[in-house]
Amino acid sequence: MGKVYLVGAGPGDPELLTLKAIKVISRADVILYDRLINDKVLEYAKPTCKLVYVGKADGKHTIPQEEINKLLVYYASVYQNVVRLKGGDPFIFGRGGEEALYLSKFKIPYEVVPGVSSVYSVPAYAGIPLTFRGVASSFAVVTGHEATGKEKPVNWEDFKGVDTLVILMGVKNRQKIAKELIRCGRDPEEPVAFVERGTTDSQRVVVSTLKEVSENPPDVEPPAVMVVGQVVRLHNLLKDFLENLKPEGEIHNVEHLRWEK
Ligand code: SAH
Repeated sequence: MGKVYLVGAGPGDPELLTLKAIKVISRADVILYDRLINDKVLEYAKPTCKLVYVGKADGKHTIPQEEINKLLVYYASVYQNVVRLKGGDPFIFGRGGEEALYLSKFKIPYEVVPGVSSVYSVPAYAGIPLTFRGVASSFAVVTGHEATGKEKPVNWEDFKGVDTLVILMGVKNRQKIAKELIRCGRDPEEPVAFVERGTTDSQRVVVSTLKEVSENPPDVEPPAVMVVGQVVRLHNLLKDFLENLKPEGEIHNVEHLRWEK
């Protein structure tokens, strides 16, 4: 009986792989990987490693989850080292938890190798810190995926007091989400950022407001992380700040980045 490694591949930039991920990928006999996995990550696999694509396209599963679970059990009975490679972190919206549960039901040994999640790394590459002293002291991560019968529906009221909202899988429903957030009392002028294909060479940042997204949503393609909150303003400020930064500049004085909420 082999062992299954539930591995996070990070958000896209292969340099955001962890050392542990590289180690288990390079030892793998078989790798089952998702759509958002960069090819460069798979280059760490040994030449004899079997690569199995079990890609999903934003909610639509090419191979149903139940099939993926069964494949994991099957491969663990045939191979020593089975890697289930997922985008970002395996336990954040990747259904990694379900796979772990399934494996434990069949008494198959497994190990979780956490990854760098897109939740904070994608905004970071776009110059958006999720917290900032005096601006945002809390953030929440929410799915923007339309709730189907099985999923626990999102109650946007619950996030009223949260400073920064990070919404994954929210591109399709962006207009509806923005409307909901305004209905729940968030300021329509609150800035919103969409970071498409974050941390990759083709990263694109679109900045808007809740009002604009609710009335006339900008064109955005998945995968994208949607960030709602005043910290989005730092996107430009930090960009200019970093561009103007001279070696002897006042890099400690960031007081001017603060403002009244
Ligand atoms: N487990 C993953 C998230 C899986 S859900 C993680 O921890 O990052 C898939 C969603 O993640 C996408 O719909 C998108 O909202 C976000 N996402 C993942 N990679 C991304 C990237 N490189 N750029 C922008 N969004 C990304």
